Amino acid sequence: MSSPTIVWFRDDLRLADNPALRAAIDRGEPVIALFVLDEESPGIRPHGGAARWWLHHSLASLSERLQEKGATLVLRRGPAGRVVREIAEESGAGAVVWNRRYGGPERKIDAELKTALRADDVEVTSFAGSLLHEPWTVTTGSGTHYSVFTPFWRACLALPAPRSPLPEPQRIDGVSATPSSDDLDDWGLLPTRPDWAAGLRETWEPGEPAARRRLRAFLDEDLPAYDRTRDEPAAGATSLLSPRLRWGELSPFTVWAESVDTEGAGGFLSEIGWREFAWHTLFHFPDLATKNLRREFDAFPWPRLKPSHLEAWQRGDTGVRLVDAGMRELWRTGFMHNRVRMVTASFLIKNLLIDWRRGEEWFWDTLVDADGASNPFNWQWVAGSGADAAPYFRIFNPELQAKKFDPQGLYVTQWTGDALAQEPIVDLGETRKAALAAYDVVKRTP
Ligand code: FAD
Repeated sequence: MSSPTIVWFRDDLRLADNPALRAAIDRGEPVIALFVLDEESPGIRPHGGAARWWLHHSLASLSERLQEKGATLVLRRGPAGRVVREIAEESGAGAVVWNRRYGGPERKIDAELKTALRADDVEVTSFAGSLLHEPWTVTTGSGTHYSVFTPFWRACLALPAPRSPLPEPQRIDGVSATPSSDDLDDWGLLPTRPDWAAGLRETWEPGEPAARRRLRAFLDEDLPAYDRTRDEPAAGATSLLSPRLRWGELSPFTVWAESVDTEGAGGFLSEIGWREFAWHTLFHFPDLATKNLRREFDAFPWPRLKPSHLEAWQRGDTGVRLVDAGMRELWRTGFMHNRVRMVTASFLIKNLLIDWRRGEEWFWDTLVDADGASNPFNWQWVAGSGADAAPYFRIFNPELQAKKFDPQGLYVTQWTGDALAQEPIVDLGETRKAALAAYDVVKRTP
């Protein structure tokens, strides 16, 4: 009798360079491909709206591709620890394999499940599939983790080069009696009333084949000018790979292997390095989305929240054109250019004096690439409470940023039209002073 191998897909919705899937096939027994929608386990943060949209389409694509190769994707909903064990028992599985996750609650689920399955005599193996370097392998001379990016990335570059990506499997032998599966449509991941996803549909094609095409196009067309134009939001010069990496439709090993030998790829690869740094930071600080990394920031005197200011920011109605353009791009497409993310975040925190956590939550709900590391990590970086080498309190001036990075106003016109801007809801100079005064309290905190 066969003892199938369960491949538990999580943030790795791909067939190529998927070490867990490869190991399952190599085991020589039929394969059960499983995805669990877990919104119940303690500490698991439910996906935001835009992420749910992406997940739906990416799962539909994965399911189709698995079918072509000979296997069926089983969808189940519930606390992952319980669901995976149930399927293992139902199917008489001999082994369960997965690629590792690095968030605190996720690691806890996986560790407990590993112990429980082994007690049931089921083999369990986990693999490195989502990061170029495992967080525990990049340490300072004294064995601690890095808190500043530049030495972190230098240390990564000094390690043995990332492994070569694994090819896509030719065939995957599924089980003859597939465990029952939920219907993807019943999960209600797509918005219906109202259906706000038109802009997402116009902008994106989720799934592994489209991700690979996007990587190819970026390498051929945009990478050579990346360093020069990456900061200009109107240039369309960046890779747009973030949602693809977020959902694991592409592995960082594939991105690395395909770009490393291109002249001038260093700047682009160091951005992949920031992604690594964010995840390593989350590994060491599981509370990254809720607690200041620099604890002296707990003393920051946030004034009472003005809901009308938060709403104006969310809607792109602040009267500051670059901020409004960014927030409207985000609402329409589920994405915002990195430079504009920094400007909109700085405006919320340092001109509206609204706690970075409120902004992080909005991005979590609206970004198709929202992930548990990069989003809070970058919010904290902008707030000044996070991992940053800069010894001063950085406040972006949105007007100067617009002059410098969108000098012809192409980006702001694209997203806010030609209308004469309304007056800004706050005075940039006054609020800047207030933010600096608030920061003084942090500086005085021992
Ligand atoms: P490229 O410039 O082509 O970069 C290539 C890849 O490097 C990206 O796809 C991404 O995976 C990685 N990367 C680049 N910059 C960063 C960075 N600063 N931190 C981490 N990874 C980076 N990125 C996310 O993937 N998810 C988030 O939830 C997220 N939230 C953010 C919130 C704020 C306030 C800010 C300022 C930045 C955030 N970023 C986040 C980082 C960055 O803005 C996006 O990764 C980038 O804009 C994606 O566009 P791209 O793929 O074209 O990037």
